[in-house]
Amino acid sequence: AATRTENRWHGTGSTSDGHAVKLLANVGSVTDATAALDAGAEGSGLFRTEFCFLDATTEPTEAQQREAYAAVLRPFAGKPVVVRTLDAGADKPLPFLDVDAEPNPALGVRGLRVAFDRPGLLDRQLAAIVSAAEDTGADVSVMAPMVATPAEAAWFAERARAAGVGRVGVMVETPAAALCAGELLSEVDFASIGTNDLAQYTCAADRMIGALAELNDPWQPALLRLVAMLGEASRAQAAPVGVCGEAASDPLLAGVLAGLGVASLSMTAAALPSVGAALAEHPLKTWRRAAEQAVSAPGAAQARERARAVLDG
Ligand code: PEP
Ligand code: MG
Repeated sequence: AATRTENRWHGTGSTSDGHAVKLLANVGSVTDATAALDAGAEGSGLFRTEFCFLDATTEPTEAQQREAYAAVLRPFAGKPVVVRTLDAGADKPLPFLDVDAEPNPALGVRGLRVAFDRPGLLDRQLAAIVSAAEDTGADVSVMAPMVATPAEAAWFAERARAAGVGRVGVMVETPAAALCAGELLSEVDFASIGTNDLAQYTCAADRMIGALAELNDPWQPALLRLVAMLGEASRAQAAPVGVCGEAASDPLLAGVLAGLGVASLSMTAAALPSVGAALAEHPLKTWRRAAEQAVSAPGAAQARERARAVLDG
């Protein structure tokens, strides 16, 4: 079966009846970019820019940032790349960002929140991204991490557009953002669901604690319901919504996410062939039925079993 399914992956994501789902790779380095393209990625749905500066003890200059981003973007010339602005905080420390220690770092000043009292940091990064995009010919969009409200999305969108960004988006990583999906999407051009964080905030279960893995399972019906809300808002607003968390690399869940209205899936490059093959096994209407079953299940394990049963039936 493995051989048969691998043969059905042609580097362009689609269900068996031709409904396109962009298959993208998550990247943070030139090595990742090369691996992504070797694996057949159609582009990148998440470039984690903080990975470029893990050792920097002072803020990289605009020129240094431009060079670092251009190196990762260059292999993607002519292809779409979603660049994420710095995602750091007490839970993901960057040596050059002096953030205070916090009792609950996952609930603290992280992601876009870091930029609220240092907008210059964000503006310098946006300028560097825009010039790196021009240098390389990659089709660049920019999104912000850890957005909670439509007002925050509007604040980010205004700064990004002023910097010359053509397509602006936000990550949906908080239940608040998902619950206000329509208003959020009216401020930006697209959204990308970060299921790693959205799962931890939905079930209030720290993603770093192994004992809570079941609550962090992306098959949790509560999480899938938030994804469904985003799928509906995406249709209503004609603004695409993607997924860039680990959930996208589970072949069965990838199809379910497509059934919920997700237009693109961004994952670790190694997962692309199996996800591409699984997606191409069934038509969109079957993935929609699998999604309906999963969303109404009483727990994560049952959601997975019910989705599987639809495909096997
Ligand atoms: C996520 O939260 O799902 C995500 C993609 O961002 P990160 O894993 O970098 O927090
Ligand atoms: Mg995240």
